[in-house]
Amino acid sequence: MGSSAISPCAACKFLRRKCTSECLFAPYFPPDQPQKFANVHKIFGASNITKLLHDLPVHQREDAVNSLAYEADARVKDPVYGCVGAISVLQQQVAHLQAELAIAHAEIQRLHNAAANSGSIPVSSKDLLELGAGGAGGSYDTAFTVSDDALRQQLSEQMSSQMHNITQQMGSQLAAQL
Ligand SMILES: [Zn+2]
Repeated sequence: MGSSAISPCAACKFLRRKCTSECLFAPYFPPDQPQKFANVHKIFGASNITKLLHDLPVHQREDAVNSLAYEADARVKDPVYGCVGAISVLQQQVAHLQAELAIAHAEIQRLHNAAANSGSIPVSSKDLLELGAGGAGGSYDTAFTVSDDALRQQLSEQMSSQMHNITQQMGSQLAAQL
C-alpha cells in the first residue's frame, strides 16, 4: 500500500512532488533518466505533457513520450531547427542516394542494351562509337564482355558499399540524437 519504498519517478523528482502509484509520468520517466524529463519539461511544459498523456489511449503513451523526448532533445541541441534539422539532413541523403541509384540503373540499362545489340548485330564502327570503344583494335566481343561484367561487378560493389556506409551514418546520427 504505502509508497514509502517507491523512489519517485524522474518527473515527480524534478517537480518536487510526491510520486503515487497512479502517477501518469512514472511508467515513462524512470528515476534513472532525469534528463529525459528535464528536456521534455523545458520544451513542452509539464502541464502540456499531462494533458497530452490524458488524451491518449494507454497503449500510445510510450510512443508519444519517446517522440516528445526525441523532439525535445533535438530542440535543446539545435534551438533553431530542432528535429527538423535532422529530418532534412536525412531527406537530403535519401535524395542523393536516389539520384545515385537512378544513375546506376541507367548505366546497367545501357550495358544491357549494349550487350543485347552486340549479340545479334554485326559490329559496325557506329556501334563501337556508341559503346565508347572508339574503334580500338582487338576482339570487340571479348573486350566488351569482359569489361561489361567487370563494370557491372564494380558498380554493384560500389553501390552496396555506399549504401552500407550511408546506412551506418544514418544509424549513428539517429543514435547520437536519441
Ligand atoms: Zn511520478
